[in-house]
Amino acid sequence: MSTEEVLVIGAGPFGLSISAHLRALGVSHQVVGKPNGTYRAHVPVGMNMKSEPYASDMAAPRPGYDVAAYCAQHGYDYTERLGPLSLERFLGYADWFTEQLVPGVRDITVSDVTRVEGGFRVSFADADPITARQVVVATGVLPYYRIPDELAGLPADLLSHSKDIHRLEPFGGRRVAVIGAGQSALETAALLNEAGADTRLVVRKPALNFVQPNPETLSWAGHLIRPTNKLCEGWRCAVWFSPEAFRLLPRNVRITKARTVLGPGGSWWLKDRIEGVVETLLSHQVRQAEAAGSGVRLRLDGPRVSTLDVDHVIAGTGFRIDVDRLGFLSAGLRGQIATMNKYPVLSRAGQTSVPGLYFAGAPAAVSLGPSERFIGGTHNSVRQLTRSLAARATGRRPALDVPVTADTAGSPAAV
Ligand SMILES: Cc1cc2nc3c(=O)[nH]c(=O)nc-3n(C[C@H](O)[C@H](O)[C@H](O)COP(=O)(O)OP(=O)(O)OC[C@H]3O[C@@H](n4cnc5c(N)ncnc54)[C@H](O)[C@@H]3O)c2cc1C
Repeated sequence: MSTEEVLVIGAGPFGLSISAHLRALGVSHQVVGKPNGTYRAHVPVGMNMKSEPYASDMAAPRPGYDVAAYCAQHGYDYTERLGPLSLERFLGYADWFTEQLVPGVRDITVSDVTRVEGGFRVSFADADPITARQVVVATGVLPYYRIPDELAGLPADLLSHSKDIHRLEPFGGRRVAVIGAGQSALETAALLNEAGADTRLVVRKPALNFVQPNPETLSWAGHLIRPTNKLCEGWRCAVWFSPEAFRLLPRNVRITKARTVLGPGGSWWLKDRIEGVVETLLSHQVRQAEAAGSGVRLRLDGPRVSTLDVDHVIAGTGFRIDVDRLGFLSAGLRGQIATMNKYPVLSRAGQTSVPGLYFAGAPAAVSLGPSERFIGGTHNSVRQLTRSLAARATGRRPALDVPVTADTAGSPAAV
């Protein structure tokens, strides 16, 4: 069995950025997964990025690999603010970044990671197993998709999670209910409506929340009043974008803010495509869902409608991090990872309570802050994470390896 110093599981923005940095540091590694697979197959065609163009750059080990540089090289118009950046342009950028900085991504699927003496034994669904001294889990949010209990009993041909909606044409002329009020739910509803589906949005809250647009330009004084980072703008955002500041906050605040900062709500550019355009049932909650004829009958609690018959239901009900959902980590290994509210507890460098096992991306949000849910978070964590991997690779004790307090200690190492 071959041995690798580092295995990076995931080839989305975090895995790619980590691989680019490891390469620059000269650390031998493999990166596996579908390159930009989430944006390529698990978001609706025609979507726009929620993040501002300037906040959609992946961290690179040297300057010159941001969206602005990509557009300049290819002769595309680029606006730093209020894009919105289209999915198509972002994918073009992400592929270019990959070609330049991350050659050799292997599109294979990890099926098992088990701790062994000196590292981890990693099995693949479609390749020979390897041993890796260190492993980074950068598998994004898809494994944590959430379907509410009321919908869970519907057969697969009548129910989809929004992560499984890619092409909209098959829904043209059909009655579709979208459940939820976050960006995915709202954007899917808008695109379905524009694709000719008879769309109903079912929302628990009494009102939709649309984020206010940022100012189109900022003067130097504007930058002082409204400091800008790769996540959002304003002084409060400076805390959300600083892992150091975030780690000083009390446990309960971290748990809440990890999820709610820039949480459920739609981009400003969705407002005109939803309000007065897509029929929206506010203050309505699904109580029960059952197959009826060739479609679905939804029983609702709410002031206007108690029964809704549709051909298909889309759960835009988001994701909930839970380390136990990562079936490719062996049960023994999962049991050794200290957690807080089901998130892995991580050091500043992203290392779990299991030496040599790191997490990047959304699962790092309770330890490093809400920026880890977004591409901009790569600028906050990848440099620290890869330096820690590099230090361990040369037998040095990595800096930044103090974790925040955990709920579960993880069981003692069983190597
Ligand atoms: C609809 C939608 C829209 C979004 N829009 C934005 C936005 O505009 N701006 C923003 O900043 N963020 C956005 N996000 C958040 C998004 O999760 C992050 O921006 C970013 O994609 C996270 O990168 P990642 O590398 O952690 O994971 P992902 O991009 O999800 O990549 C996961 C990688 O892991 C691989 N993988 C998974 N399991 C395995 C396995 N078992 N073996 C091997 N490989 C595996 C996949 O193939 C893939 O390569 C959006 C999310 C969604 C769902």
